[in-house]
Amino acid sequence: MNKKTNLTGWNFDNSYSRLPDLFYSNVNPSPVESPQLSILNSSLAENLGLIQEELQSEDGVAMFAGNKLPGGASPLAQAYAGHQFGHFTMLGDGRAVLIGEQITPQGERFDIQLKGSGRTPYSRGGDGRAALGPMLREYIISEAMYALGVPTTRSLAVVTTGESIVRETNLPGAILTRVAASHLRVGTFQYAARWGTTEDLKTLADYAVNRHFPEVQEDAQPYLAMYRQVIKRQADLMAKWQLVGFIHGVMNTDNITVSGETIDYGPCAFMDTYDPATVFSSIDRQGRYAYGNQPDIDGWNLARFAEALLPLFHDDQEEAVQIAQEALAEFPKLYHDNWLNGMCAKLGIFDKEKEDISLVEELLALMKKHAADFTNTFRALTLDNSVEDGMFATQEFKEWKAKWQERLSRQKESKSSAAELMKKNNPAVIPRNHRVEEALEAAVDHGDYTVMHKFLDILSNPFAYTEEQEEYAKPPAPSNLPYRTYCGT
Ligand code: AMP
Ligand code: MG
Repeated sequence: MNKKTNLTGWNFDNSYSRLPDLFYSNVNPSPVESPQLSILNSSLAENLGLIQEELQSEDGVAMFAGNKLPGGASPLAQAYAGHQFGHFTMLGDGRAVLIGEQITPQGERFDIQLKGSGRTPYSRGGDGRAALGPMLREYIISEAMYALGVPTTRSLAVVTTGESIVRETNLPGAILTRVAASHLRVGTFQYAARWGTTEDLKTLADYAVNRHFPEVQEDAQPYLAMYRQVIKRQADLMAKWQLVGFIHGVMNTDNITVSGETIDYGPCAFMDTYDPATVFSSIDRQGRYAYGNQPDIDGWNLARFAEALLPLFHDDQEEAVQIAQEALAEFPKLYHDNWLNGMCAKLGIFDKEKEDISLVEELLALMKKHAADFTNTFRALTLDNSVEDGMFATQEFKEWKAKWQERLSRQKESKSSAAELMKKNNPAVIPRNHRVEEALEAAVDHGDYTVMHKFLDILSNPFAYTEEQEEYAKPPAPSNLPYRTYCGT
């Protein structure tokens, strides 16, 4: 048994452990040699009702490492399945444990998960561990997403373990403490549908309804209403990803949450040059999870979700399929509407008109043709600075701009309100890949965390348009090698 900490502030409940045994395995984190705190998220700690000084103490660090457990913790690894690159398989937390659900002083409930905490019954051939670089990368990108207003799991802390882990080379081991609305995934339902009874599936659905969608409890068809809510949240999430140029990289059904939060920051990255075919993940050779495919892939994932839920929609299979198809048909419409509203806001348009879609599409076509930087194109339009190079110097762009300006003068809101709207919707900075790499290299190779702290500070207010942010807005120097990210890290 892992020892207990004396930490106050933790206020755990363990509702997931009250689900049938099928859904999890009780497993303690495996203690590590000599844990040290790499980074702690003070503002998140405060929101959770935790005390920063305590978390930085020996007991706090021991807890983040899984060497000691706070009172009330009940560690478990969750079982789930998933379609990975289209193929169905059994998965589960192979290198993570949920230590409990923190009930905050505001009464909210968050999963507290240690990622990289050792082997579990679902580890298959893996070592259950994680390396420092990828855990810090998840920390940076998830916190940047949060600041950008994109629903996401968050990062409370990273500790190093004092142990090496074997990948292509030996790497320093680390554990990330992840905070999530829940870890219920489409894959959790696929697991229940494949290996549980209909009663188990129903129990899981009731749990999800209770935790995320209490408002549908009174609905005549609560499970269908829940499905519709998940569709709505995913349509919102996909639009938000597309509007900031985020590429998840591994949209397998086990990485799609029911809560609508972004989860599992593996081979993800932000796009620099605009191109819908952009892929960063080294293992995504077919471009299945390319930027431009993300909404369609999410629709595919939501169809797998519906398949798992069919027995709860109707006793008659054909009727159930019919019901599911009707609900899913809403997804592309909802997504497109969210996306177009967002694109209009990026262009300073308050109430969209029928022709606005062509204005948006024409701009995107020009950006693609001239290999324009995604974030900086909208940033330049927002600042209305007359940089006359690249796309901006072309006749076709000038024609587009005249049309856009004419559109803005037709709306009742002033040009300055339009500019304000644009500022709120076009980030001045995103976590650019070369900057992420620079911060990771300093921290991992040289133990210098100043670069990362500065970067996190810049990213914490992406719509501020400060002078300090200008340096971080610059795209990378042209390179012959495409940026690549790796899975299974
Ligand atoms: P991911 O690509 O992070 O979504 O993980 C896919 C599956 O592989 C999940 O079931 C993970 O728990 C498992 N997994 C990833 N890395 C490891 C590891 N080092 N040891 C054991 N399981 C792992
Ligand atoms: Mg995963």
